[in-house]
Amino acid sequence: MKMEVRTLTETKALLVVSEASPAIMNSLRQTLIADIPKMAIEEVEFHLGPIRDQDGKEYESISPLFDEILSHRLGQVPIPTDLDFFSFQDDCECEGEGCPKCSIMYTLNKKGPCTVYSGDLEPVGDSSLKITDDLIPLVKLSEGQAPLIYATAVLGTGRTHSKWQVCHGVGFKYYPTIKINKKKCDLSGVCVKRCPRDVFTMDDKKTEVADPEACTLCMTCVDECETKAVTVETDDTKFIMTFETDGSISAKRALQYALDLLDSKANEFRDGVSSLG
Ligand SMILES: [Zn+2]
Repeated sequence: MKMEVRTLTETKALLVVSEASPAIMNSLRQTLIADIPKMAIEEVEFHLGPIRDQDGKEYESISPLFDEILSHRLGQVPIPTDLDFFSFQDDCECEGEGCPKCSIMYTLNKKGPCTVYSGDLEPVGDSSLKITDDLIPLVKLSEGQAPLIYATAVLGTGRTHSKWQVCHGVGFKYYPTIKINKKKCDLSGVCVKRCPRDVFTMDDKKTEVADPEACTLCMTCVDECETKAVTVETDDTKFIMTFETDGSISAKRALQYALDLLDSKANEFRDGVSSLG
């Protein structure tokens, strides 16, 4: 399997994968969706009753949203996750008690009127665990409202709940090979006009394939060309894959993790088969 990186930003990736098969690509797609771990808020504790600030002003620890709705919103906040540091709570040396290796505690205490954002979550201890995507609105507080919240994040995967899903918009398509038969082409420009992805360009003398990787294999060019000059072919060993992450983990790290995981699962399977004798 060969992989060429076309685009790789902190959260987005576009890859051309060759010498693969639809089965391998689908395994990679499913691994990216369901098996990359990340930290997400799992437990939320709401303080009940009045809160007094330094000036003696009294607030009530409430918000306009039901506690469970606010908890749900907190669960979706992307938390920066170092996969080399954190471990699953069940596998941690603290035996599930909760420690800095398997959990992060955040506090939230904003006083209304204001809008509470994800960046208002304050990590207890290590300030590097501050939420980087800090402008996600969580709740709008009115005068006198100041919810005091303790939230604990733990490691999980998208297989359990989508709040632990790192990669989104994961998809792949067959790599298109688009050809224009110059002898048949009558320069009608139909392919240029009808292609929804601007794959073709044309001048007075010729029509050309400018951006084949943008093709979605809709075949409009093939169907609409009256002289049948355009052909679009695919093979099932070369693919274009795209995905993005929610920002908790970089696209590069998510891909590395997925490939390592597939490798170890394949080895485990092979060892299991060999042990059958
Ligand atoms: Zn622990």
